[in-house]
Amino acid sequence: MKQLLILPGILFLLAQGTGTARKEPSIEKRPKNIILMVGDGMGLTQITAGLYSNNNTLFLEQFPVTGLIKTHSSRHIVTDSGAGATAFSCGCKTYNGAIGVCKDKKPCPTILEQAEEQGFATGLVSTSSITHATPASFIAHVPDRADMETIATYFLKTDIDLFIGGGMKYFNRRTADQRNLVGELQEKGYVVNDYSEQKLSDLKPSPDKPFAWFSAAEEPEGVNKGRDYLPVAARMAPEFLKKRSEKGFFLMIEGSQIDWASHANNAPNTVREMLDFNAAIGAALQFAEADGETLIVITADHETGGMALEQSRSPDTLDMTFTTKVHTASMVPVFAYGPGAEQFNGVYDNTAIYDKMIALWEFQPKVEKR
Ligand SMILES: [Zn+2]
Repeated sequence: MKQLLILPGILFLLAQGTGTARKEPSIEKRPKNIILMVGDGMGLTQITAGLYSNNNTLFLEQFPVTGLIKTHSSRHIVTDSGAGATAFSCGCKTYNGAIGVCKDKKPCPTILEQAEEQGFATGLVSTSSITHATPASFIAHVPDRADMETIATYFLKTDIDLFIGGGMKYFNRRTADQRNLVGELQEKGYVVNDYSEQKLSDLKPSPDKPFAWFSAAEEPEGVNKGRDYLPVAARMAPEFLKKRSEKGFFLMIEGSQIDWASHANNAPNTVREMLDFNAAIGAALQFAEADGETLIVITADHETGGMALEQSRSPDTLDMTFTTKVHTASMVPVFAYGPGAEQFNGVYDNTAIYDKMIALWEFQPKVEKR
C-alpha cells in the first residue's frame, strides 16, 4: 500500500544541506591508486539477494569499512544515475539528467580530469555504453544525458588511458556529424579493439599505448545472454593502468545492469548481475591486496525497484519482490578497503565520496558547494 509521507520544506533543506559537520578521522596513509566501483541500482536488498544466492558469501565481506550515503539530487528526493554519478565525479548535488555539470549547468572538473592533469593514469569500465550516465559523468560535460554522441566526443578531449564498454555506434556510426571517433582515437595513438573482432579475455594490451575495447555497438547484453567481460576488465585494467603512470591511477568500474534488471523487476537477472559485479570486486580486491597502495571504494548511485526479500513457502528459499519499476530514495551502502578506507565510515552525502577521494590525494576541490 502506498502512503504519502509529507516532507516539510524538503527541497529547501536539500538545497541547504541538513547534516551537521563531521569530523573526519586523520589520514594515516594515502592511497597511490583509487578504484571506485559503482553498482548501479545496487541497494542493500540487491546485495543481500546476491549474498544468499551465492552460498551466503560475497567479496564485500572482506571490506573492513562500511558507510551509508544519502542519494537525493539537487531537485528530487529520488536521483537518477547522471546526478548520482556527478556527485561522485565532481562533488556537487545536481539535477537528474545532468552529466558532469552542476545545477547551474556549468561544467565541473571531474576527479578523472583532475587525476589526468596531475599525471595519473585513468580508466573507465562499464557494462553499459561507455557514454551512458555513470561513466559519462566522469569524462563529459553535457546538460542532458540523452546526448550520447556529444558525450562520445569527450573521449577525444581527455587523455584517458583505458576505457571498456558498449555504445560503439556513438563513435563510428554518428548521425549528428560525419566524424569517425574510432579513427580519431587511433590517430591519437589508441589501440582500439571491439567485440566483433576479439574477446577482451583474448587481448593483452601493451601499456605503451592507451587502450579501448568496445563491448557492443549499442548496449551490451546481460549476463543471462552470456556477457562475461566485466571480471576480465576488472583484472586487466588495474594492472594496465599501474604500468601507465608512476604517480598512480584512478579507475571507475560500473556494474551497470543491476539497475536494468531491477527496473524490469527481474529478480533472477538482478542476482546474476549482482554476482557478476561480485566477481569484478573479487578481481579488484586481489589486485589491491597484492599492491598494498590501492584504495577500493564500492557504492551505488541509488537503489532500483524497491526490492524486498520475503520468506517463501519453504524455510530456506527467498521470495524476491519489487514495489516499483523506478529508482527509490533509500540510502545505499559504501564499502572501503585499503589506505584511506577509514575515511568512508559513517553516514554522509553522496558528494562526500568525491570530497574524501580528493582529500586523500590532496587535490583542490574545483566547485563551490551547492
Ligand atoms: Zn536506473
